[in-house]
Amino acid sequence: STAVVLFTSDLRLHDHPPLHAALASADEVVPLFVRDDAVDRAGFGAPNRRAFLADCLRDLDEGLRRRGGRLVIRSGEVAEQVCRAVAETGADAVHMSAGVSGFAQRREERLRAALGEQGCRLVVHDAVVTAVAPGEVVPSGKGKDHFAVFTPYLRSWSRARLRTPFGAPRAVRVPPGPVSEPVPARSGVSGVSAGLAEGGEAEGRRRLAAWRRDGVDAYEERHDDLAGDATSRLSPHLHFGTLSPAEIVHRVRAAGGPGAEAFVRQVCWRDFHHQVLAARPAVSHEDYRPRGDRWRGEVAAADDIAAWKEGRTGYPLVDAAMRQLLHEGWMHNRGRLLTAGFLVKTLYVDWRVGARHFLELLVDGDVANNQLNWQWMAGTGTDTRPNRVLNPVAQARRYDPRGDYVRRWVPELRAVGGPAVHEPWKRAKDAPEAAGYPDRLIELSEGLARFRQARGLE
Ligand code: FAD
Repeated sequence: STAVVLFTSDLRLHDHPPLHAALASADEVVPLFVRDDAVDRAGFGAPNRRAFLADCLRDLDEGLRRRGGRLVIRSGEVAEQVCRAVAETGADAVHMSAGVSGFAQRREERLRAALGEQGCRLVVHDAVVTAVAPGEVVPSGKGKDHFAVFTPYLRSWSRARLRTPFGAPRAVRVPPGPVSEPVPARSGVSGVSAGLAEGGEAEGRRRLAAWRRDGVDAYEERHDDLAGDATSRLSPHLHFGTLSPAEIVHRVRAAGGPGAEAFVRQVCWRDFHHQVLAARPAVSHEDYRPRGDRWRGEVAAADDIAAWKEGRTGYPLVDAAMRQLLHEGWMHNRGRLLTAGFLVKTLYVDWRVGARHFLELLVDGDVANNQLNWQWMAGTGTDTRPNRVLNPVAQARRYDPRGDYVRRWVPELRAVGGPAVHEPWKRAKDAPEAAGYPDRLIELSEGLARFRQARGLE
């Protein structure tokens, strides 16, 4: 018999339950990836992610070829393309991973209906895209379908049973016939950030091994050190599923120690946001907890928004982080918190505007983590202190104490030594060291007053 394995956000061969199940029950398997036009139409086909995806598909194809198989790539509507592959090969089952977003949930429904008409089974596997499946741990109490607060979620999540991760299959037999489009190349994508990381399972596994060896032990002390850049940078691999979250948790936990524990807690944040989104798909665009905000309009705030996007707000740490995003398609978590908080609370611009910009650039950009972290910073999400405001100067002193991160990303300020780089407005107007660096868009106290008034806190 033949089975189709539909790859989605799980572009790997190790610890891949759908592939494993298909190989266990069928003689031949069609590993299929569909380039869905709807993803581009919905604005999710940003160049950085398309380029990273190209690396992932190339690597997946190479990995399958080493095992006697190959990847079949098609373009179009997913259900249509899967049905076509089923008709061409006479497959009697399609295996795939459960998705989380509203988009993924609708795709699964369409596929189930279309395959049903063809008399083909759809087998959906849980806990592939997340370590613990959404809905697997829920609070006690009638009708509760997800956790709205992180700490109790973490407690339950930590006790949940994880699959023991398994390796890649030895051999994959693909039936002759199904024609593939060429594997896309990163070089074919334009508008990619110059410093974009490399994608693919082999690269993800290399990074994970290096992280376990050299990084994780110091994670607890160093994860907020902006200049030290001492986080794992595994986020794009988690986003595309070139690494299995269950395997990461399993392996890092086995190492033990405070670094491992702090790191696993962050991976749990990822599962946390995914379970909120799975239960409330509309939070991709609607407030999880509306606060009655009347954000400044995109037209009224257009100049401020442009300055924020380009890293010209006059607040060096905000600008450094925004320029890192432009250059690498990635930003340190501390930078994300700070720049998001600045847009929403100091400039009082709708979180959706910022989230959209992040999604245009972030290589790890995904609906669950991006929209829900933005909502967290806006105070419309799951933060239990929704009105907190981060001060970019205080944050700079704390997380970039020597000013090295700012000098790395803001060349206009390179001649300013030490932490003075964080407050260029304190220098004489004609001081040559900070020439060409913009004035502040707004005084922090002014932004704070506007925000407090808007939220009815005054
Ligand atoms: P590490 O510190 O090494 O953490 C390990 C892993 O844990 C990460 O790879 C990630 O999968 C997960 N993780 C860490 N922090 C968070 C968090 N706060 N929420 C959810 N998961 C987390 N992360 C994304 O993957 N995609 C996004 O689109 C995204 N958008 C964000 C937007 C804003 C406004 C903010 C404040 C955070 C956002 N994050 C997003 C979360 C976090 O900033 C990144 O996951 C992290 O910086 C990635 O770097 P790393 O892999 O080195 O992280």
